[in-house]
Amino acid sequence: GVYKGGIRYHPDVSKDEVKALSFWMAIKCAVVNIPMGGGKGGVIVHPKDLSDGELERLSRGYIKKMWPILGSHIDVPAPDVYTNAVIMNWMREEFEKIIGRPDPGVITGKPVEQGGSEGRGTATAQGGMYCIIELVKKLGWTPSNTTVAVQGFGNAGANIAKLLHQLGYKVVAVSDSQGGIYRPAGLDPESIDKVKQESRQLKAVYCQGSVCEMVEHERVSNRQLLELPVDLLIPAALENQITSENAADIKAKAIVELANGPTTPEADEILRERDIHIVPDVLANAGGVTVSYFEWEQNVKGEHWRETQVRQKLEPIMVNAFNEAWNFKEARGVTMRTAAFALAVERIAAAMKRRGDV
Ligand code: NAD
Repeated sequence: GVYKGGIRYHPDVSKDEVKALSFWMAIKCAVVNIPMGGGKGGVIVHPKDLSDGELERLSRGYIKKMWPILGSHIDVPAPDVYTNAVIMNWMREEFEKIIGRPDPGVITGKPVEQGGSEGRGTATAQGGMYCIIELVKKLGWTPSNTTVAVQGFGNAGANIAKLLHQLGYKVVAVSDSQGGIYRPAGLDPESIDKVKQESRQLKAVYCQGSVCEMVEHERVSNRQLLELPVDLLIPAALENQITSENAADIKAKAIVELANGPTTPEADEILRERDIHIVPDVLANAGGVTVSYFEWEQNVKGEHWRETQVRQKLEPIMVNAFNEAWNFKEARGVTMRTAAFALAVERIAAAMKRRGDV
């Protein structure tokens, strides 16, 4: 501890999923050398079916039950799938009401005006982008010749699509839960996001339109998107998307896992045999937890950092973490995933030994 990890609202949430996601958080914090442990929360719910009032009562109700095990020096949640800054603020308000004093560091991913960190909204994508820049350098690719498909057009997916587009990468396919669009000539993720935002039916989280309705394109399913002939595939939706069923059909040369757990262990083995480079989730999406940690640090110190400061602190952390994992992989002849896990376990074990736990 302090434990760190997001709260997910999704009909498929289960205790096993929450445990797996917590474990990943522990590893992830260690991969980027953040002095925190792993945690996670989940609610089995189809939040699109809830009214605004129901969503707020559900979020406050979660805290009414969970508050004894939360706190800025105990467990600090954050947003995850289908939860956002508005929800985080309801939760923080409820927590402070119960304990009777301010504790803004109890939760991260808050709106900036309510103690959130500047740059948190784009942090996961930003961190993924620093990994991609390093990977592309190692592979000798150039951005303008690199085609990209992104599965999931939420916080992680839409932002990485926009950032890569700004850097000159050719984003050719994006998708959301309704399906995807593919345009070999390239898409403009900025305008797709704008339309999506404008058509938003404000239920705190949801958009009514889907990216499928927006530009001239070929319509693809989420499964087809994963198998498109692109250089870089970025799963940024849910876990277990690349499985033993489709791993042999993946045509991308590299996969950068912005989602948590998008690749099953069986698929991972198939991809390894096919020499497809994978930047694993615990590294690729660690920008989110890193800026969450920055938010917590600002809250407990009573500071506010500007977005440029946040980025300046994030970049070296991500670049170092990527290169440490890359160098370990090269030295030991293992995958990036094994390298990242080995480094993380080494660090956790060293910390436990220092504390006398083992
Ligand atoms: P989000 O709710 O903002 O977006 C999720 C996106 O996935 C939406 O576009 C949704 O339409 C799409 N989606 C849902 N079901 C889908 C399906 N079956 N097929 C394809 N697309 C589907 O969530 P997010 O915060 O962007 O999280 C996405 C992934 O990134 C999750 O695995 C999450 O754990 C991981 N992650 C997020 C952060 C963060 O800071 N937001 C940090 C680390 C990891």
